[in-house]
Amino acid sequence: MNASTSRQPRRGGRSESEPPPGAFNPAAIRADFPLLETTAHGKPLVYLDNAATSQKPQAVLAALVRYYSNLNANIHRGIYQLSAAATAAYENAREKAAQFIHAPSAREIVFVRGSTEAINLAAASWGQGHVHAGDEIILSEMEHHSNIVPWQLLARRTGARLRVLPITDAGELRLDELENLFTPRTRLLAITHISNALGTVNPIREIVSQAHARGVPVLVDGAQSAPHIPVNVRDIDCDFFVFSGHKICGPTGIGALWARREILDAMEPYQGGGDMISSVTFEKSTWNETPYKFEAGTPNIAGAIGLGVAIDYLTGIGMDQIERYERELLAYAREKLSAIDSLRIIGTAKDRAAVISFVMDGVHPHDIGAIVDGEGVAIRTGHHCCQPVMDHFHIPATARMSLAFYNNRQDIDRLAAAIEKVKEVFV
Ligand code: PMP
Repeated sequence: MNASTSRQPRRGGRSESEPPPGAFNPAAIRADFPLLETTAHGKPLVYLDNAATSQKPQAVLAALVRYYSNLNANIHRGIYQLSAAATAAYENAREKAAQFIHAPSAREIVFVRGSTEAINLAAASWGQGHVHAGDEIILSEMEHHSNIVPWQLLARRTGARLRVLPITDAGELRLDELENLFTPRTRLLAITHISNALGTVNPIREIVSQAHARGVPVLVDGAQSAPHIPVNVRDIDCDFFVFSGHKICGPTGIGALWARREILDAMEPYQGGGDMISSVTFEKSTWNETPYKFEAGTPNIAGAIGLGVAIDYLTGIGMDQIERYERELLAYAREKLSAIDSLRIIGTAKDRAAVISFVMDGVHPHDIGAIVDGEGVAIRTGHHCCQPVMDHFHIPATARMSLAFYNNRQDIDRLAAAIEKVKEVFV
């Protein structure tokens, strides 16, 4: 079943409790995800680690099988029919990725492995041309390591330095400090749209407009926003935006870097190899056009096509519907978890999405994760690749539940019951 049919009434007519046709129907959507039918430790699986990766609907799984069964050929090079068809499917996925984030042109979408590679590409390639000794890059204290380490590597290579926008104890950006961080040497602001460790939704338009008022371009890490809210890069007005396919129901190993055409055109290639060139001699090579000059070698063709189908699936449901449903579910989860004494939520920002990080008195988060796992509930424990966030709160780790539109209140109830087991053992 795919997203569009999943919202239709089941055969035999609609029961009283079923949503009307066209309405968001969590039960039907859930049935699109085979993995959600599996068990863990003999119990029906409750999957609440969506910030790490999402599950895949049947439509995406079928697209991968279809690609390898009927369409597999290398792209951009063959003049035969099969290669032309594979090329068309790959380029069609680029169009879908562009539409998903409302990019002005598919030529501004560079396919990469995911958000991490996208940021490394920007840091290596754009950084090389624009960041020099003494220059500064502003990040925030809530960044994922993927939006810290590539800039650190660049800073080490060039002699630039990083400046850090702090967060409050609620897990919100200290926007009052932002103004003080800009200097004439600021070359870039690289910031997450939504925090994977705290769930904080940052006021990204306001941040971009402050940076632009100082002539500073902005890279937005959209790894956690693309799965949960409608994204419009024109509206955000950022200069770079990155996201990962595997977090939006697509396959692993595919994601996108979007940047304004003039920025990409002026950037040097990231990696050299086949397909990214226009001509090669031993004396000199010239580059293919944007975005191909950034896609050296055989790309993840199947992954891109699968991503396109995942995007169709999400837009078939509607990102606005997904956002609305998840907000309600998050409020329910917050209420349930807050009612558990000895549990403390880390990250209490006013605007949050999809994530609740928590600790429990006298229990290591790994023990929480292990006991909860025994109840068939998958949550993440650790620093979530955000060690500076853990340092801010003086904790080594948190337990984190992160939801998706295919989760429901029963999943949250199962988590709450599993946490009661933790209390029985430890508290
Ligand atoms: N940024 C954020 C905010 C993330 O949550 C993640 C993944 N956890 C990444 C970047 C990196 O994404 P990927 O591993 O898909 O490259």
